[in-house]
Amino acid sequence: MKTVWVDEVYQGIVRTSFKLKRRLFKGRSPFQTVEVVETAGHGKLLLIDGMTMVSERDEFVYHEMIAHPALFLHPNPRRVLVIGGGDGGTVREVLKHRSVERCILVEIDALVVDASRKFIPQTADALSDKRSRVLIADGVKFVAETDLKFDVVIVDSTEPFGPAKELFGTAFYSDVKRILTEDGVVASQAGSPFYEISTIKNLFSITKKIFPVVEVCLFNNLTYPGGLWAFTFATKGLHPLKDFKPARVKASKLKLRWYNAEIHAGCFALPNFLKAAIGR
Ligand code: SAM
Repeated sequence: MKTVWVDEVYQGIVRTSFKLKRRLFKGRSPFQTVEVVETAGHGKLLLIDGMTMVSERDEFVYHEMIAHPALFLHPNPRRVLVIGGGDGGTVREVLKHRSVERCILVEIDALVVDASRKFIPQTADALSDKRSRVLIADGVKFVAETDLKFDVVIVDSTEPFGPAKELFGTAFYSDVKRILTEDGVVASQAGSPFYEISTIKNLFSITKKIFPVVEVCLFNNLTYPGGLWAFTFATKGLHPLKDFKPARVKASKLKLRWYNAEIHAGCFALPNFLKAAIGR
């Protein structure tokens, strides 16, 4: 039988191919094309506009790294806002923290949530937890209009175009600062240091003008182009290394597969080309 592959062609210069077992879902929303396929070797994949968002095999890396550095830095995270993240993986990690009373997910595309709930319970089951609340809305509008306050905001968005474009802008981060409590932390998907260094540079310089503390953290994963990926990390004062208490991670007894106190201490160490790009 002929082998069929699912290809992600990135920026027209690199292609990642996954061996296909079967196609489970494909739908078009007002914002994007949403697909779920089952692969031989990486479990189910969620793809948006042909780009791999989630693979069951390695999603734990991205989701642990976008959530735990921020939640273990904040002294007592109780209210958390996730923008994007309709697959539910980030909410799953947030709800592992017993201090969290409420996690609001603001996802613009109901089709992503519905497809994830139906085909990827590994990440989406957390959306049905009694502490989580799913709002189908534009995250830019939500932060501009809400009078709720949050201890941690996580921007788990797609790339800086289409519906996500303004999630990489100054107005959005000014509003995020307004809705963060005193020790507030915001962690944001920033892209590939190899293929999208301009996105990281822009996000770093925009947040640097708004927040007193801004850092970049790196991690490796299996399914994103180039493997190496970045988050920006901004706070209203807490420093992700100086104010981090490693003992809290052990004491939490959380069952994590990637994140630990050593990974936290190391993920803010940047290679020279990236330091140069952000002017460090
Ligand atoms: N981990 C993925 C990555 O790094 O590319 C992101 C996963 S998550 C599925 C991205 C989500 O952001 C998508 O479901 C998309 O619909 C959502 N999104 C994009 N723009 C948005 C906006 N303005 N407000 C809320 N959600 C948005």
